[in-house]
Amino acid sequence: MDFNLLIDNPEWLLIVLAPLFIALMTAEYVLGQKRGRLPDNASYHLPEVLCNFSLAGMHQLSDLLTGLLIVKLYLWLFGWHLLDIEMGLASFLVLLVLQDFCYYWFHRASHRIRWMWAAHVAHHSSENMNFSTAFRQSLMYPIAGMWLFWVPLVIIGFEPKWVVFAVLLNLGLQFFVHTQWVRSLGWLELVFNTPSHHRVHHGRNPQYIDKNYAGVLIIWDKLFGTFEPEVETVRYGVTKPVESFNPLVVTFKAWQEMFDELRNRNLTLRQRLKVIFSPPDD
Ligand SMILES: [Zn+2]
Ligand SMILES: [Zn+2]
Repeated sequence: MDFNLLIDNPEWLLIVLAPLFIALMTAEYVLGQKRGRLPDNASYHLPEVLCNFSLAGMHQLSDLLTGLLIVKLYLWLFGWHLLDIEMGLASFLVLLVLQDFCYYWFHRASHRIRWMWAAHVAHHSSENMNFSTAFRQSLMYPIAGMWLFWVPLVIIGFEPKWVVFAVLLNLGLQFFVHTQWVRSLGWLELVFNTPSHHRVHHGRNPQYIDKNYAGVLIIWDKLFGTFEPEVETVRYGVTKPVESFNPLVVTFKAWQEMFDELRNRNLTLRQRLKVIFSPPDD
């Protein structure tokens, strides 16, 4: 596919990458699971795989629908852009690094603010880890406020279509870190988010909780004190398991619990704000 066509229609990026995703999942299943080379919690279980695929489809649909509104907002904000940036290889690389920096803070906020965790928990609630885990996304990200984190890039002066492309490319690249197949990538571990670093991120071992928020570069975790290397075998999932393969339960259970708490009439405004903005307990 022509690169410029992809920049003009960034929503196609994940669809373009889909054959590669499917090939890698098939390889992980056939070469890893069937030949007994992977641990039990790397197994593909049909109900969970179907749930993961449904979550990806629901996320894509909600992104497409809300994306139209969000791009309108970005185009409006772009009217106030600070710099006139001509896109070339150098400015594209700068955009990728800046977007990855913003992603780090989006991801960190998604773990430390309950409102945002209510969306992100869907990604973490599986107790298995294989390439299909990457498909566990939430249709609630636009409500959680993910789009806010890319606004600085638009204000700096990157055209909205390039910003959306960078966001989706980052998401697409993260597919490759959801595996137990790769133990270590040598020197790349120093700079990049790798399967090893991301396994830690999905761990519920106490020392692994809220660590390794990286998208593509692990340097942000090292700079901001959230890096943890993989030492102990990772136990995957969250401390309050969702215990369902129904994508609607996986998507909405945490929201429902939060709104149940907010419905308590005796809460003061301060207590309500605390329910929404304090760190989650799972
Ligand atoms: Zn996370
Ligand atoms: Zn992940």
